[in-house]
Amino acid sequence: MRAVRALVAFAPPWVVVVVVLAVAAGLLVAPVQAAPNATIAKDARLAGDRERTRFIADLSKKVDVHVFALGNPYRVIVDAADVSFQMPPGIGKEQRGLVTAFRYGLFAPGKSRIVLDVSGPFLIDKSFVLEARDDQPARLVIDLVPTDEKTFQASLREARQAAVEKASLPLPAAPVRPADAKPIIVLDPGHGGVDPGTSSPNGVTEKVVVLKFAEELKKKLLATGRYEVYLTRNDDTFLPLKDRVAFAQKKGAGLFLSIHADYFPTKIDDARGATVYTLSEEASDDEARELAAKENFSDAIAGVALPDDSDGVVANILIDLAQRETQNRSVVFARSIVGELAGKTILHTKRLRSAGFRVLKAPDVPSVLLELGFLSNPDDEKELTSERWRDRMADSVAEAIDDYFAERIARMPF
Ligand SMILES: [Zn+2]
Repeated sequence: MRAVRALVAFAPPWVVVVVVLAVAAGLLVAPVQAAPNATIAKDARLAGDRERTRFIADLSKKVDVHVFALGNPYRVIVDAADVSFQMPPGIGKEQRGLVTAFRYGLFAPGKSRIVLDVSGPFLIDKSFVLEARDDQPARLVIDLVPTDEKTFQASLREARQAAVEKASLPLPAAPVRPADAKPIIVLDPGHGGVDPGTSSPNGVTEKVVVLKFAEELKKKLLATGRYEVYLTRNDDTFLPLKDRVAFAQKKGAGLFLSIHADYFPTKIDDARGATVYTLSEEASDDEARELAAKENFSDAIAGVALPDDSDGVVANILIDLAQRETQNRSVVFARSIVGELAGKTILHTKRLRSAGFRVLKAPDVPSVLLELGFLSNPDDEKELTSERWRDRMADSVAEAIDDYFAERIARMPF
């Protein structure tokens, strides 16, 4: 019952009432009686000073912990599964360095939590768990260093961003398919529903143009008999960016093509033609960065909770090593589109551009984003809405897809 007492000692009165009631009703299992293989936290202490404050907890064995910072008020949270607290009574009230107090207890069934109260903005400089050695117990060690408010807030945002990225990229196991199965292509008409995308001065909307194009391209690809083809959306429905990515992963897609149309908002209204983009951590140029920010904003327009970027348009993202191979293939495909389009239609630029497009983030699906043209340009607008153009353009992209799958790299297993 020590953990319960510990909670009671530091908790506001209403929590005390709830805890007491819960104990009375036998609802709260005292962590002391947790599963026999639970890790036991036997002691904890603070060391150091305001320049570097160290929190140490002695554990019966090594345990996985999740350590993160919270603001308002400043806190460090340590979460672990099944830790039974058998700490000496009365600890946690001592103030030392940056830490004004700490407390611990069950946070949810099977989930234990330690909370450190911190006096001001800080950074978690280090956190690790040491294996038990000789006569030393296993140890959880957390080092805190002071920082300014701005840096603290930035670190919170970064951590939240990482959590969102992680949560938004579940890796559904792609169905196992025979080696000679047809490649699966997922076409992704951008925007939809509440998010119209960009629109021309005459009111032609991106979401309509790109859906029509995707339907045409699907028809042509199916006609070859060589592919399985799916659209992320088949009607005027909104779909969050991460769901588009997950859709391609779930289908086990060998290729993902996100289809959009751009708008150039400045006086220079002669920007026209198609542009091909791939994913990169750093944008290839300002125009690519702005475009990625615009496209990534789709979720915000539709009211989906955004990753917590302060300006909502941060387009830089991290690509891990496992994605490099996927990236290589994406670039091969992108080049193949540029090659096909170069002779047959107007290209805004022959250069491959890249930026942090969230919709291209599937780590295991080569992904390219194609901007069909500029709705801000009257000539492009005419083309984007004409059946003849759509037919020609879809032919070219279908050929680019053929070219891509003719490459050895496209057929190699990951
Ligand atoms: Zn778009």
